[in-house]
Amino acid sequence: MLLPGRKVGFGDLLIENGKIAEIVLRDDPGALNGGRLLMPGLVNCHGHTAMTLVRGLGGGLPLQRWLEEAIFPVEAKMCAEDIRSGALWGAMEMLAGGTVCVADMYDFPGEGADAFAEAGIKANVCRVGLNFIEGRLADCIGFTRGWKPSRVVADICIHSEYLTDRGFCRELAAANRELKRPLHVHVSETKREHDGCIARHGKTPMAYLADTGLLDRGAYAAHCVWCSDDDFRIMREYGVTLVHNPTSNLKLGSGFARVPEAVAAGVRVALGTDGCASNDNLDMFEEMHLASLVHKGRLNDPTVAGAWDVIEMATKNGAHALGRTDSGEIAVGKAADLCLVDLDKPHLCPALDIPNLIVNSMHASDVIMTMVDGEVVYDRGQWPTINHERAGYDFKCAVRRLFKAL
Ligand SMILES: [Zn+2]
Repeated sequence: MLLPGRKVGFGDLLIENGKIAEIVLRDDPGALNGGRLLMPGLVNCHGHTAMTLVRGLGGGLPLQRWLEEAIFPVEAKMCAEDIRSGALWGAMEMLAGGTVCVADMYDFPGEGADAFAEAGIKANVCRVGLNFIEGRLADCIGFTRGWKPSRVVADICIHSEYLTDRGFCRELAAANRELKRPLHVHVSETKREHDGCIARHGKTPMAYLADTGLLDRGAYAAHCVWCSDDDFRIMREYGVTLVHNPTSNLKLGSGFARVPEAVAAGVRVALGTDGCASNDNLDMFEEMHLASLVHKGRLNDPTVAGAWDVIEMATKNGAHALGRTDSGEIAVGKAADLCLVDLDKPHLCPALDIPNLIVNSMHASDVIMTMVDGEVVYDRGQWPTINHERAGYDFKCAVRRLFKAL
């Protein structure tokens, strides 16, 4: 079975030079029970991949204490090699769960990018814009300007309104008139952040970012939990994607992004896992499941966040948000960024309603094969491009080193 667009088909796919060259559909109603499903690979539109190193740390703490008491002290000890190991480990987890592309925001992005390239996963990396680090603005601009695009590309980034000042934003925006990359940013994650920005600047974080010029080449904005209707209008006008991170928002008690309302206002919505300490996994099927459920509960309305809409958020919308319009769907001419799911399992049978099954019944662990640009990068517990025993050894050594010294 395969998913060409918003349809379920039975048939075959021809891949040539990393692209889908032909789709041959035929009638085969026998696949209701068992069989395999080929679907577009998933796009994780907001992550801090190397946070696999701190998976689950500080659970139960409120956001600010979680950051300051649990996360920051360990992050301060992380070196380039730790980031490389953590990012490779996260890339392995994502590929094993059908994710073909990630938007990553973390320190040592060059080492992260090396790990993504080794794994064969597509990635949009960035140097994180932060005000309080000497020379960081030039570093951010230089990082993106010097990047040689491959499966890994470099976008621009500020962490958030509250960790950068107006001058930083304006200068990065000015440089981006030549770099022409979308912005990766956290926006209105908590009420405190949203209200604080209004107190500081007299406008919401989204309106403030628009004002600085940072949205001029589009953006993908994580969380957007407290965004207003006016913010949604700005997002539509500037082509800003709302990256919904339901697990992270639930775990940290941040609130519920108004996703169906944003969609109704014409805003593109994609999905992300956020970092592994606020999730605590990189399972995009779980994000689809929650994205579909929480808005039905919040609005007392089972008709919102329908299965096809949510699948598109996790595939095509994410790919387009990251400037990868040649990915995210099964169509002739698109990149062969795909994953294969084994439906011959008790919890996936019968397959009466495939989109519903994907969103509500599937887990990352049901994926048996993942390919990027037609290259198999995960196959039944093996990652052909990676020495995974070595990767596991390095990762566990990094964890031991980081936590021994605490
Ligand atoms: Zn984040």
